[in-house]
Amino acid sequence: MKTTYDAVIIGAGIIGCSIAFELSKKGWNTLNVDTLPAAGSGSTANTCAVIRVHYSTIDGTALAYESYRHWSDWSKYLGIEDPRGMAEFIQRGVLVFKSEANNHLKKVTATLDALEIEYEHWDFRKIKEKFPLIDDTSYFPPRRPDDPDFGKKNSTPVTGAIYYPQGGYISDPVLSVHNIQVAAEFHGAVFRFNSRVTDILKENNRAHGVQLADGSAILAPVVINAAGPHSFVINKLAGVTDGMNIKTRALRHEVVHVPAPEDIDYESIGCPSSDSDIGGYWRPEVGNHILSGSEDPECDPRQWIDDPDDFNRNLTDQARAQALRLALRIPGIRIPNQLQGIVDLYDVSDDWIPIYDKSDLPGFYMAVGTSGNQYKNAPVVGKMMAQLILSCENGHNHDTDPLTFHLDYINRDINMKFYSRLREINEESSFSVLG
Ligand SMILES: Cc1cc2nc3c(=O)[nH]c(=O)nc-3n(C[C@H](O)[C@H](O)[C@H](O)COP(=O)(O)OP(=O)(O)OC[C@H]3O[C@@H](n4cnc5c(N)ncnc54)[C@H](O)[C@@H]3O)c2cc1C
Repeated sequence: MKTTYDAVIIGAGIIGCSIAFELSKKGWNTLNVDTLPAAGSGSTANTCAVIRVHYSTIDGTALAYESYRHWSDWSKYLGIEDPRGMAEFIQRGVLVFKSEANNHLKKVTATLDALEIEYEHWDFRKIKEKFPLIDDTSYFPPRRPDDPDFGKKNSTPVTGAIYYPQGGYISDPVLSVHNIQVAAEFHGAVFRFNSRVTDILKENNRAHGVQLADGSAILAPVVINAAGPHSFVINKLAGVTDGMNIKTRALRHEVVHVPAPEDIDYESIGCPSSDSDIGGYWRPEVGNHILSGSEDPECDPRQWIDDPDDFNRNLTDQARAQALRLALRIPGIRIPNQLQGIVDLYDVSDDWIPIYDKSDLPGFYMAVGTSGNQYKNAPVVGKMMAQLILSCENGHNHDTDPLTFHLDYINRDINMKFYSRLREINEESSFSVLG
C-alpha cells in the first residue's frame, strides 16, 4: 500500500467519507484511516438519520436545507450506483410541536419564512386526522419518571405544530456511508480500515502525516480530523486544543425502540417528530417500531465521557424515561420490561454548533463537534471542507479573512466564521441536539 498521499482523513464516518469524496473529485489523492472494520461503523452507525431543516440559527437552517437537496437527489449527487444498493430517503416530512420550550416556534417559523421553506401550521384536529394516536395534553416542563409531578397535566393542551414536507429520514445510514465511499473510490480515494492513528506527525512546524498503531507512518501535507466522538483525542495528539476557543467533548446518549400501538401501521404513516413539551423526538423504525431520543431537557443528566473507547453501551433508566415520556404523547405504545435501543456518543462542541475549520497547526484541519445533529449535513460539509482546505493550502488566511461558502441549490452565502474554532459561544444556539 502507498504511504504518501495529498491528505489523510482520520475517520471514515459520514463526515470523513464526504470530505474524501469532495477532495478526490478535485483530483486529490486521499486516504481515510479508521480503527473500525468498515465505513460508517462509528457513531454514524447508530444515528437516527433524521433529515430536518429546522435549526435555531439561520445559517444552521440554510445548511440543512441545502443538504436536504443532496439527499433528495442522492444518486445524482454521488454519480454512482453502489452494487450494494443506494440508501433510501423516506421523505415523510417533519412535525414539530409548539411548546413553551421553543417559544411556540416563533423564531423557527421566522427563519423558515426568511429562507422561503414551505411549512404549514397544524392545529390538533389536523394532527389527529393524520396521526389519530397522538394526544394533545401538555406536560411541560419535561420530567423524570421518578419526579412526583411526572405526567402532571397542564390546564391548556398543546396548541399545535408545524409540518414541513421537506424532510424525513434515511433508511440505512451505514449504507449511505458505503455509497459515499464507493463514490469517493470511483475518484481514486483509498480507505484503510482496522488501523488506529496514534500520533500526528509534524515537520517544519506543519502537519506531515500520521503514525499508526502498528508503527507504520503515512505521510501527507494535509491531515483532517473527522474522528467523531474521538475528535478531542486527535486534537490533543496534534497539540491544537489550546488554540481553540470552542472545544469538543463526547456525550453519551440513548435511543429507545418501542413497538407502535398494535392497531396502527406507524411504519407506513409516521414521520419524524420533535416535541419539546415532553423533551423528546421520535420517528418510525422497521418492524412497526418507534424510536425515540431525548432533546436534552434540563431534567436529563448529561453524561460526559472521558474515554470514548470505554463507556456503558447498555440502556439505563434514561431509555425508560424517554419511553415513558413518549407514552404521554402516544398513549398506545407498548413498553416492554426489557427495552431495546442503542447507546452511542455525540461529539459535542461548547455551543452545540460544529467546528469546520483549520487549526493553529498548518496543514491540520478539523470537521468536528457535530453535536448529535450533523449526519444530515455531511454532503455540504464535505464541499465546505474541500473549499476551506484548498484555499488555506493556497495561502489564504481563513482566521483573519473568513471564507464565504456558496450554497448552490438555495443560492445563499454562508460566512464560514460561523463554524470557526475561534468564535465566541453562539448564544443563538439551542445548546441541545436541536443545534
Ligand atoms: C444516537 C445518535 C442519534 C443521532 N441522530 C441524528 C439524526 O437524527 N440526524 C442527524 O443529522 N444527526 C444525528 N446524529 C449525529 C450524527 O450521527 C453525527 O453527527 C455523525 O454521524 C458524525 O459523523 P462522523 O463521521 O463525524 O463520526 P463517526 O461516524 O463517529 O466517525 C468517526 C470515525 O473515526 C474513527 N476514529 C476515531 N478515532 C480514530 C483513530 N485514532 N484512528 C482511526 N480512526 C479513528 C472512528 O472509528 C469512527 O469510525 C446522531 C448521533 C447519535 C450518536
